[in-house]
Amino acid sequence: RSGRTPLMAGNWKMNLNHLEAVGLVQKLAWTLSDKKHDHDAVEVVVVPPFTDLRSVQTLVDGDRLKVRYGAQDVSVHDAGAYTGEISAAMLAKLGCSYVVVGHSERREHHAETDEVVNAKARKALAAGMTPIVCVGEGLEVRQAGDHVAYTLAQVDGSLAGFTADEVAGLVVAYEPVWAIGTGEVATPDDAQEVCSAIRARVREVHGDAAADGLRILYGGSVKAANVAGIMVKDDVDGALVGGASLQPEEFGGICRYR
Ligand code: PEP
Repeated sequence: RSGRTPLMAGNWKMNLNHLEAVGLVQKLAWTLSDKKHDHDAVEVVVVPPFTDLRSVQTLVDGDRLKVRYGAQDVSVHDAGAYTGEISAAMLAKLGCSYVVVGHSERREHHAETDEVVNAKARKALAAGMTPIVCVGEGLEVRQAGDHVAYTLAQVDGSLAGFTADEVAGLVVAYEPVWAIGTGEVATPDDAQEVCSAIRARVREVHGDAAADGLRILYGGSVKAANVAGIMVKDDVDGALVGGASLQPEEFGGICRYR
């Protein structure tokens, strides 16, 4: 994966209050510094709930930690009468580097379409943050053998209208829904099959620079014990980690996969 820095992102989902968040990030930082982690070689990102971000920012800034952080969602609107929404400008102001958009749990429980995901990714980019655009098929689609076509259609819709430069800086996370939180991990070959198809599609639509720059993560029950097998694959540039990111030792082990 020449030129692409591997990225390990921990999606905490709706877990941990702001005090617990500080505890986890401190433990993660200790674990990584104990192991002399090279943050330039493998980028480490935590993605806490909105309410934790200010505390994480204070800790990261105060202790000059090299861990980066992001948000789990962003509004498609800039400001105004949208009760409960959080804007990209608010997240950028809190020092977020990344925003997860289109996680399967949001696509499922909040009926987010590719158009919505596209609009959210645009807002994140416009505010100077990197979207982590999630795609991936459910069990029935996989069983029908349509997983590549299904996922590529999500990629097409979610990235429609982006410039080659924008795509080159993006992160796409391939997360087969049947592997999320189930303990069921896709095999390294399954992950590579879809990740390479995503890169090929991006090459076709957005050109070489976009395809070579784009980082593609695999997500779905990644643990310290299975991450290395996935990371040897050419088109897998990192992992989006749910459950295991709540355990600092385990997530630290994932970041130290090699
Ligand atoms: C996720 O939520 O993005 C995820 C991959 O979860 P888990 O690692 O728990 O399967």
